Amino acid sequence: MQITMHVCLDADQVTGGISLTRVSMIARILSASMSSSAKVFDYLVIGGGSGGIASARRAAEFGIRVALIEHGRLGGTCVNVGCVPKKVMFNTAMHAELLHDHKSYGFNLTGEANFSWKSIKASRDDYIKRLNGIYDANLKKSNVERINGHAVFTEDKFVEVNGQKYSAPHIMIATGGKPIVPSVPGAEYGITSDGFFELEDLPKKVVVVGAGYIAVELAGIFNALGSDVSLCIRYDKALRTFDSMISENVTALMEDSGIKVCKNTSVKSVTKADDGTISLDTNTGLMSDVDCLLWAIGRTPNSDIRLDNVGVEVDKYGNIAVDEYQNTTAKGIYALGDVCGRALLTPVAIAAGRKLAHRLFDNKPDLKQDYNNIPTVVFSHPPIGTVGLTEAEAESKYGKNSLKIYQSKFVPLYNAVTENKTQTVMKLICVGSEEKIVGLHMQGVGCDEMLQGFAVAIQMGATKTDFDSTVAIHPTSAEELVTLR
Ligand SMILES: Cc1cc2nc3c(=O)[nH]c(=O)nc-3n(C[C@H](O)[C@H](O)[C@H](O)COP(=O)(O)OP(=O)(O)OC[C@H]3O[C@@H](n4cnc5c(N)ncnc54)[C@H](O)[C@@H]3O)c2cc1C
Repeated sequence: MQITMHVCLDADQVTGGISLTRVSMIARILSASMSSSAKVFDYLVIGGGSGGIASARRAAEFGIRVALIEHGRLGGTCVNVGCVPKKVMFNTAMHAELLHDHKSYGFNLTGEANFSWKSIKASRDDYIKRLNGIYDANLKKSNVERINGHAVFTEDKFVEVNGQKYSAPHIMIATGGKPIVPSVPGAEYGITSDGFFELEDLPKKVVVVGAGYIAVELAGIFNALGSDVSLCIRYDKALRTFDSMISENVTALMEDSGIKVCKNTSVKSVTKADDGTISLDTNTGLMSDVDCLLWAIGRTPNSDIRLDNVGVEVDKYGNIAVDEYQNTTAKGIYALGDVCGRALLTPVAIAAGRKLAHRLFDNKPDLKQDYNNIPTVVFSHPPIGTVGLTEAEAESKYGKNSLKIYQSKFVPLYNAVTENKTQTVMKLICVGSEEKIVGLHMQGVGCDEMLQGFAVAIQMGATKTDFDSTVAIHPTSAEELVTLR
């Protein structure tokens, strides 16, 4: 027999010493336990990616019964089709770039370097398979029960997977997102970032459409490895949400490196010829004989899991609406990570997931994720590091007159003897008379590994004087940040 109770009570109301939220949760468990078939846990996590796994494993440390539902490979976007394989390919591209500099550094390598995409793809796929196995083993070690299959909410407020019903007083949604494919005719002839990781060979001629970090990163990898690359962007710069210094510099450096940046360009339609080549009709002309078209125009949340059945609201883009504690609009249901559409980064999903576990099961009621000062790296060529506010954001928050901007542009020592030169740019945005640093933006060799330590300092409230009073490390590019005038 299954009893369904519809309890919709205000968390702040308390009756007889028991919060009505608790009553609602108890009702849900009671309903589930009276159902002949529903399985009940203390914490049910939907999505086995960065946020879901981190939260489930941390919660299990507190001795509760945790289950995690995943319909694909464990590890989610980051491990399977995101950060990890992307970084392997970035490293591959770096090898190609270093090869160009070998001669300048006195190495006389005879013959042509013979690059095999198939070989690095095989090693990369093996590594990811190993990671999938490690994640599985870690879940077992942590006593998290893994449920394989696609989860949806049912009308009677359970979570259903392959016909089996599940419930818990605390349910967390971390279902991530997927790449957007535009609705232009012939869009299906293109691939997305997911398809990038399935390519069996390096394409000869590539068009990447998009101006965000994924477009910039994948275009850079193709270009460094020898593809003929065009990047179609809707306006005149890539990474337009970044600080203007970065978006200008990255666009110029991509052009210098041989990527054709097609500005103010939108794709109208796509066709595929019998020989497999693709043609794109754009507002700025025809692009033909393309081997690979890659859409990198944004991501959309995986929130089509019948959230309406449990009263979880989404915004107009489908992102799950949450408050600062990751509470959705339904009591006892939480969401975090990419499915909420904010700060789409693995460490953010992980940190939010762990904090939620501590808040719910470790008696830390005030713990929540801080979404300020999130450091970010774009693995462009050379990489970008950024933390805090852009100059435009700082101006609108504090007013132009309260800001002091320190900026530098230089060719790093690494390029002193090389034919190919890159340019490093750095900017510090400081506020008020004490010159508190509220933004740091840089692009250049080594900026990816340079950022984390500076992000700690900025998170701790560092001022320009703190930077100035730190002894420089010479000769590095990083020293520029503590000697800016
Ligand atoms: C190409 C690319 C490069 C990236 N590079 C970086 C980077 O360098 N650094 C960085 O920090 N971030 C990077 N990201 C972003 C990062 O991957 C995401 O921010 C992160 O994975 C989000 O974690 P999540 O837990 O919210 O979602 P995900 O990791 O996407 O996990 C969601 C999981 O839920 C599962 N799922 C979805 N719906 C259901 C359902 N109904 N039932 C069961 N399971 C379901 C999915 O299969 C998936 O495994 C990159 C992303 C991409 C696409």
